[in-house]
Amino acid sequence: MTFQSVTSLINGKRTAQDGVPLELIHPGDERCVGHAYQASDAQIELAVSAARRAFEAGSWRDKSVAERHGVLTRLADLIFENADTLGRLDCEDMGMPIQIAQEEARLSADIIRTAAQGIVFLEGSVFTSGPGSHCYSRCVPVGVVAAITPWNYPTPNVAYKVGPALALGNSVIIKPSEISPRSAVLVGELALQAGVPEGAIHILVGDGARVGNALAMHDDIDLISFTGSTRAGKLIQQAAGASNAKRVLAECGGKSPQIVFADIGDMADLAKNILSSAFANSGQLCVAKSRLLVERSAAPALLDAMAEQLNDYQPSDPTTGSARYGPLAFKRQFEMVREIIAQAQSQGAREVGKVDTAAGEGFFVPPTVFACDDALAPALQEEIFGPVLSVQCFDDEGQAIAMANDTRYGLSACVWTRDLGRAHRMADRLEAGSVEVNALANPNYDHDAMAQAGEPLKQSGFGVEGGIDGIKAYGALKSFVFRS
Ligand code: NAD
Repeated sequence: MTFQSVTSLINGKRTAQDGVPLELIHPGDERCVGHAYQASDAQIELAVSAARRAFEAGSWRDKSVAERHGVLTRLADLIFENADTLGRLDCEDMGMPIQIAQEEARLSADIIRTAAQGIVFLEGSVFTSGPGSHCYSRCVPVGVVAAITPWNYPTPNVAYKVGPALALGNSVIIKPSEISPRSAVLVGELALQAGVPEGAIHILVGDGARVGNALAMHDDIDLISFTGSTRAGKLIQQAAGASNAKRVLAECGGKSPQIVFADIGDMADLAKNILSSAFANSGQLCVAKSRLLVERSAAPALLDAMAEQLNDYQPSDPTTGSARYGPLAFKRQFEMVREIIAQAQSQGAREVGKVDTAAGEGFFVPPTVFACDDALAPALQEEIFGPVLSVQCFDDEGQAIAMANDTRYGLSACVWTRDLGRAHRMADRLEAGSVEVNALANPNYDHDAMAQAGEPLKQSGFGVEGGIDGIKAYGALKSFVFRS
């Protein structure tokens, strides 16, 4: 199978190359690496009706838990075996350095494997009842799930949805980002090869405004599982309400704080963590810690240590094995990030660190660190989704909490302190779905993160992703009452 140009995958077959395709541009050198043919309205209907028929016929949901576990385990194995290709496609489409993209693809196999294991341990509840009656509840699949994913970690983002949706017995339609659709088509083909029935998985290629919106508005879809911007998340909720009141899971944007107290000690080690959590994947990470809040007395030493290490983030050609820091994913993103940097400068933000690179081809933006005093500045309030880290100083714990929570987002937060009491107080009061203390979550997905379930707060969205609770999110709790 070729992946230079992709179409949708419906009923086990790739659709014909009809219409004007979208160009897939490699952000490292702006060359066209392939084309994506968007699903037509008729193809969207075909996928939804096939998914519904498969669900009703029970070709997947009626398989035993052991059979679904076996198929998903085979899918995990196939993803692992094909990780080099999946990673190469993601690298070409959105510019993640190739070795990191291939490692992410291997970790995606683990994401599927974790869902396969989770379904084996899913439990229901049996309620106290009188003699001659039996009352219980268990989680049942909702039906047809549409999964809409972003471009920043293309293969893992698909795996995070396909795993739990299929584990529970749903039919699933995946609409990957129009920027990076090719690895999703390969994952769909691997799922068929692993034994998922052809009606139970479909991939629809296309943009959000047309194909994504058509799914969000569709009356025969039961759940939209969305990961992406808060802007699109709100539109999807509107569409869900305006159509069949379908369920929505929304993993949206973030503007996550990292709070450093002076008692933490060694600044060199800490600086390394702070930079990697802000600039991994060129800052295109939902849980990027893009706001550094530092106790005033510790700021000079920490900023010096960060400035020394900033040169580790030299932009380089992402297709070479040694690359660690690549370009931004596409032109619009590149222009938007540069505009925000220029705007911050014009509003008086002081640049306290920057990597100097020669201008050339590609959508490269070197990491920038700003000191920012204006709490309402866009650099402090808006999710930039690029390599921009803002720094603010605080004088006490209360001020640190107030500054950290002064955002419409609530995705994640990290605290660094040696004071255990303070660590607990901070962790409790931070308005974030996940809080790390003295330990950054690995920016790459790791086993701990996969087993862990969390739910965003505020405008970062809602709905659990990960762990057993993340499987239940793709189902409904059904209760049963039996009397003799
Ligand atoms: P985006 O919202 O532009 O697009 C995400 C997906 O939604 C794409 O497939 C897109 O085609 C689709 N889409 C866009 N508009 C739509 C609409 N009106 N109806 C239906 N579908 C629509 O986001 P992006 O630029 O692809 O990704 C970056 C964003 O994703 C950032 O905000 C980032 O924080 C967020 N993100 C969040 C998480 C998380 O777990 N919370 C993880 C990764 C990325």
